Amino acid sequence: MPLLDIVKINTPKEDILYKPTQQVRIFGPALHMLLNNMLETMRASQGVGLAAPQVGISQRITVIEYPDDEEDPENTMRVYELINPKILKARGAEVEQEGCLSIPGLAADVRRSTQVTVRAQDRNGNEFRLKAYDWLARVIQHEVDHLDGKLMLEKAEQVYKLVENEEGEIEAVPIEMSLKQGVR
Ligand SMILES: [Zn+2]
Repeated sequence: MPLLDIVKINTPKEDILYKPTQQVRIFGPALHMLLNNMLETMRASQGVGLAAPQVGISQRITVIEYPDDEEDPENTMRVYELINPKILKARGAEVEQEGCLSIPGLAADVRRSTQVTVRAQDRNGNEFRLKAYDWLARVIQHEVDHLDGKLMLEKAEQVYKLVENEEGEIEAVPIEMSLKQGVR
């Protein structure tokens, strides 16, 4: 399956990242192929979630891969395909540091709900509801934001530059919030 190009900020195609996406109405082979390719692309980039605008397609589609059991990720990885997702309920709030495949080299502290109920359709158009907590709830909110044309930097309470230190480890170094606009 071909890997798709990921649209990144500050590149010629970035406008699509800031545009709300269109509802999906046709649940056929083209959608299935796109979902398969998005999953492969996300895995190849070691991402947890990927939204269609990040591969240049302005439709309400996102894929997420996350373990059911964080203690045993290898055996419990689960793929979520959310088509036309809508967050029905959101509760709680927590600030955590997250990243984004479209924003390489940066991380951001973002306040998100700790529990969400989302309604979506699967690849065949069947509607379902999903209740998610903590990190999965965060990923879903991050991806739904993408579908609404919003990036994590907009909501960031603090932005960090990811730099490699002398030991070869990645460190998140806080950057001045006044630079945030320049980051777009
Ligand atoms: Zn993202």
